[in-house]
Amino acid sequence: MSTVEILGTAQDAGVPHLGCRCDTCESAREGTRPTRYASAVLLEDAGRYLFDATPDVRFQIPDVPDGVFLTHAHLGHLAGLPYFGSESADTDGLPVYATPGLGDVIRDNDPLRSLVSDRHVDLRSITDGSAVHLESTSVTPIRVDHRESLSTGTLAYRVDGPNRSLLYMTDVDSLTPRAESLVRDVDVALLDGTFWSGDEIDRVEDVPHPTVRSSMNALADVDTEVRFTHLNHTNPLCDPASDARAELESAGFRVAERGDTVEL
Ligand SMILES: [Zn+2]
Ligand SMILES: [Zn+2]
Ligand SMILES: [Zn+2]
Repeated sequence: MSTVEILGTAQDAGVPHLGCRCDTCESAREGTRPTRYASAVLLEDAGRYLFDATPDVRFQIPDVPDGVFLTHAHLGHLAGLPYFGSESADTDGLPVYATPGLGDVIRDNDPLRSLVSDRHVDLRSITDGSAVHLESTSVTPIRVDHRESLSTGTLAYRVDGPNRSLLYMTDVDSLTPRAESLVRDVDVALLDGTFWSGDEIDRVEDVPHPTVRSSMNALADVDTEVRFTHLNHTNPLCDPASDARAELESAGFRVAERGDTVEL
């Protein structure tokens, strides 16, 4: 048996969002609604494997994991990596899985370079489709389209346990036919739910994501258990009492929540 625990469900910058005074962010600061950490999950089989090194990592896991799978080089997915260095957990040879391009960035640039040169992390290159076999689980990186400008690439992960499969896909530009088939092909999908609708922020064309509304339509007939994650602070799904949340749940979908677990 292996288990995936959800550690965070926000877009990279978390909730509250620096510089924002919206109700969601103010409620999170005041403690009347929960904060949301940046999207991450922990896979436990015989070992414990973290997916995404977020800026919230020190709140998300108490102990150093046995490995880290990186998705891409944006704030919420990479900025926690220095916490494994000498100022913090001071790890010794922690396996960190990343695309070859992202590995080069980590190896060649301050402040990440010393993680490699001081051997806190052991970088391991992974590419599209190359499965990593853990104790009772296999983890398959899948290259997805997310910001062409990000030359180091973006990965989703398919996790196959002894009984069930899970897709972790937090950042995609759109729900392409291929992305949709990845969702349809697993038992549980943790899916990019950044925006509920296309009018939440002014610069939405600069940060393309499929809206939850459009994904709900495209996936209306799926057998997969779909849980939306990576919520932007503007997304009304952040509020459990919102009309959007009721609409989502009545259509058979869910919002991923910190502490939820999925048995695989
Ligand atoms: Zn992201
Ligand atoms: Zn806000
Ligand atoms: Zn991103």
